[in-house]
Amino acid sequence: MAELGLDAVFISQPQNRRYLSGFTGSNGYLLITASEAVIATDFRYYEQAAQQAPDLRLFQATGPMEGWLPGLLTAAGDLGGKRLGFESADLTFLLYRTIRKAVEALSAGQRPRMIATTNLVEDLRAVKGPEELTAIQAAVDLADAALRDVAERIEPGWTEKQAAWEIEKHMREHGGEAVSFDTIVAGGPWGAMPHAYPRDRALEQGEMVVIDMGVRLNGYCSDLTRTLFLGKPDDRFKKVYDVVLGAQLTAEELVQAGMTGEEAHNLAHRVIEEAGYGENFGHGLGHGVGLAVHESPRLARESKDVLVEGMVVTIEPGIYVTGWGGVRIEDMVVIQNGRARVMTHAPKLLGTGGG
Ligand code: ZN
Ligand code: ZN
Repeated sequence: MAELGLDAVFISQPQNRRYLSGFTGSNGYLLITASEAVIATDFRYYEQAAQQAPDLRLFQATGPMEGWLPGLLTAAGDLGGKRLGFESADLTFLLYRTIRKAVEALSAGQRPRMIATTNLVEDLRAVKGPEELTAIQAAVDLADAALRDVAERIEPGWTEKQAAWEIEKHMREHGGEAVSFDTIVAGGPWGAMPHAYPRDRALEQGEMVVIDMGVRLNGYCSDLTRTLFLGKPDDRFKKVYDVVLGAQLTAEELVQAGMTGEEAHNLAHRVIEEAGYGENFGHGLGHGVGLAVHESPRLARESKDVLVEGMVVTIEPGIYVTGWGGVRIEDMVVIQNGRARVMTHAPKLLGTGGG
């Protein structure tokens, strides 16, 4: 806040709120100054907020925001003429207007100046502390176990939805709070869409299956992709798979602290391009993972984000061919001692029927 010349910040983004306060409820806002930290939430969460965020002053936010917001602004001390930061990427236009009205409802001497900020908390969240790394590793391990379990049992005749449900069931039955995103299971040509949704269609012998999945555990997410083959992989699949795996292993070996997201992306992109599939790898190499499954930094073309110690990111190159299918392989890594340490332990190539 001092670096940005802010006297106060209003935090509305739920994961940022949790990161700063510990409070996990579905409704809540933080107002933080150099000397005050206030959490505003409604009746449903008074007790939970007091338990999870004992260091913050609880402000009981009853009724519509227009009614209580002026009180919150004055509860945090004298903000008259001060710079109040808000999260421009999170506040809806409607909420912003409500806040403006609340500010205007104050007497002239009490009104703060609204300052748009971006990535204020996201940049802090990008670098994980030891407790966060432990939580993330547990989420990674649980997704790994679910993948192993389902990869052993999946067979032609299962629908994509059924495979997705088996994965989700395993993760929930072993302590997962929720999936970290809707599980992707895509058989055959469907896998050409990087974010395909699972269908009622039955998987067939002799086709590839892209599975992209993750779980939330203690608030932290995991993200894992494996591409399986039902039966004995054909030559085309093996060739494409080897290129993607080569790109991934290259990136995992060569990623270094100090690199930009674009430089990291290019480590893998170059391998795929040299194999003649440059056009078929249209998304970024990876993204940060933490309280959100997609967060800072971005490993992608034109990303200026710099990789530093303690960041957790995915490495997930892929090749997609319309009408044929797709191969994506995704691990999570943590930047440690200047290099990428792989957190994911799910086996790389899995198959049934001798694949
Ligand atoms: Zn994924
Ligand atoms: Zn991912």
